Amino acid sequence: MKPIKRLLIANRGEIACRIIRSCQLLGIESVAVFSDADRDEKHVREADRAVYIGTSAAAESYLNAEVLIGVALKTKVDAIHPGYGFLSESTELIRRCQERNITFIGPSIESIAQMGSKINAKHIAHGLHIATVPGYNGESQGVKELLAQARRIGFPLLIKASAGGGGKGMRIVHIEDEFEGALAQAKQEALNAFGDDSVLLEKYIVRSRHIEVQVVGDSQGNVCHLFDRECSIQRNYQKLIEEAPAGNLSADTRQALFDCAVKLAQYLNYQGVGTVEFIVDADTGDFYFLEMNTRLQVEHPTTELVTGVDLVALQIQIAQGGALPFIQDDLSVKGHAIEARINAEDPGNSYLPEIGKLDLYREPIAAGLRVDSGVTQGSSISPFYDSMVAKVIAWGETRGLAGQRLLQGLGDFAIAGVKTNREFLMALLACPTFHQVLTTQYIDEVFPDGWQPWGEEVHLAIAAVALATEQETKVTGAFSGTPWQRLSNWRLTTGAGIPAVTRLYLRQGDSTSTIQLVGGSGQYVVTLVKEEQISEFNILLNLNKTRSQVEVSGSRSMLDIAINGSQVHLSSSKLNRSYQFLSLEEHLLKEASAHTDSSSVIRAQMPGLITDVLVCEGDAVQQGDIALAIESMKLVNNIVAPCSGTVSKVFCVAGDNVEGGTLLVEIESLTD
Ligand code: ADP
Ligand code: ADP
Ligand code: MG
Repeated sequence: MKPIKRLLIANRGEIACRIIRSCQLLGIESVAVFSDADRDEKHVREADRAVYIGTSAAAESYLNAEVLIGVALKTKVDAIHPGYGFLSESTELIRRCQERNITFIGPSIESIAQMGSKINAKHIAHGLHIATVPGYNGESQGVKELLAQARRIGFPLLIKASAGGGGKGMRIVHIEDEFEGALAQAKQEALNAFGDDSVLLEKYIVRSRHIEVQVVGDSQGNVCHLFDRECSIQRNYQKLIEEAPAGNLSADTRQALFDCAVKLAQYLNYQGVGTVEFIVDADTGDFYFLEMNTRLQVEHPTTELVTGVDLVALQIQIAQGGALPFIQDDLSVKGHAIEARINAEDPGNSYLPEIGKLDLYREPIAAGLRVDSGVTQGSSISPFYDSMVAKVIAWGETRGLAGQRLLQGLGDFAIAGVKTNREFLMALLACPTFHQVLTTQYIDEVFPDGWQPWGEEVHLAIAAVALATEQETKVTGAFSGTPWQRLSNWRLTTGAGIPAVTRLYLRQGDSTSTIQLVGGSGQYVVTLVKEEQISEFNILLNLNKTRSQVEVSGSRSMLDIAINGSQVHLSSSKLNRSYQFLSLEEHLLKEASAHTDSSSVIRAQMPGLITDVLVCEGDAVQQGDIALAIESMKLVNNIVAPCSGTVSKVFCVAGDNVEGGTLLVEIESLTD
């Protein structure tokens, strides 16, 4: 096998950029390819050379093996790296590489062919005494036969395209009546995507976990595993959050998975990196072989972060004929890594893919954080390819620390111009259930009504609940100096057992929102009325000094909440909001003054100490006369009368400590 000095990357986006990085480390020249849509993209700019291969549709460019081989010959590369997706599991590309003496970076044509069909892969696994999901893996594909098999397996069951990948050609069937319709759809989808409509049937394991084992083999017959990953957090059978190693897994099960994966790789005489996927029944702990992916996996960085192995460099070394640079005993797992996939899609609108220009794009930089991306600010998200734009991967000594780092990293990620699932990913990671046993039902379980990004109204409602909750914890009934602490006085407490009703007001510009809270003990139904628009939220709040946990209609998040008098501040890595609520009397005063002259009151502009009060009730004042002095931030500020008239009320005396916004003096204006 020849040394690799120049390499063609038959892919695009983040994985092309990832491969370029390993090429740079190994001193290998990289040749990128691009379609019309990708002319100015990151992988084109980062490679040593880039060659145009066709129009934007994948079939005309990244899936065109003939054109790619042509470019490989023209640029005199030694090898082709296919990345994942596109031609990574194409036996045709390998055949063409062999004909032209170009090294294909991946396993042998036989390994790919044997594992490419899920039906065949399950037969092989079965022969090696590896448990497979009960179902039907037969050659006979007639509707009658499949229906009879479906009845035998029982419902719910999954119809899967044998040639499938990326969740395509897969349908869940809950009852017999749905079977034939779902079968037709699955077959059609499989034919379109893979040119092969054979299907297999599998019993659907409802509470299942997706756990996979990274394997690697060389041309000398050595095989090792690089431990496990858990990818149970999925949507539409597609992974969204992945981690290494799996949490909450017994040592015995973990070892059994390693043994099965290594046995399969040894049987295949596997040369390269690959992943053996299993499904683990969360209730019984039983596990079943699912499929083998004979390529680099999207989630490979998690394994890299816990093992310290550069999997792309390893692929290249193996393809050059090199032996594995380690034996099994040399390998170990250090800490924990979690990856989240940032997709250009709108989780608030059925996850519809988003296209457009990334007007703002800034990746987070922090210790223990890695970002693998294929875009930069100004990049265009085109409709032609995968919606994944970046992966954020965090490492930590423990799973908890890795999760926290990832949450922080996602929070610090600035992306605008196209909608992404960034906040959705944060909501998934912030859920307390993230620390329990994960299953593929995770998203449905934590967001049974679907997930919606929190808008302004939700934040306002949370702030109101925070204020009410704080008031509740204070001694009720005690009369104290600030109007705000009299909140309990205008809370209408009905008989025992019936929740109290609290009403708050918020002025924003010219409009006032009325917020009614019913409930207590951190659990409220909040009704918001603003300009005759009514909205209602169910809010659960666990108010803490730091990181309060909030749940709004099933969607959970962590916020820092600070309360100062009647002012509530919400802060998280995503937002900073402040709300100044009004008590009933302040609200009525506002309403009244809105009808007369709003400049006839003096309020403290800032919190401070009243050092002097120069006016008394009944005094005549001229606009601009000094009425009070307030000391704030070590400076004494004079506060002047906003209008000429008679002082009708003085609310403070020298020596008072006042909060910002406090009403100090009221003047009956001459013009009234
Ligand atoms: P992984 O297991 O590496 O996370 P996924 O199943 O998420 O893999 O797929 C990775 C990428 O490759 C996705 O873009 C997916 O659409 C694509 N992909 C996977 N398998 C196939 C296939 N057989 N044919 C076409 N695209 C595929
Ligand atoms: P693909 O080639 O699209 O990756 P897989 O067979 O790996 O197809 O299945 C994709 C995902 O669907 C798995 O990760 C798993 O979560 C889910 N799944 C697959 N088979 C079953 C099953 N029999 N029961 C429950 N979930 C399943
Ligand atoms: Mg799979």
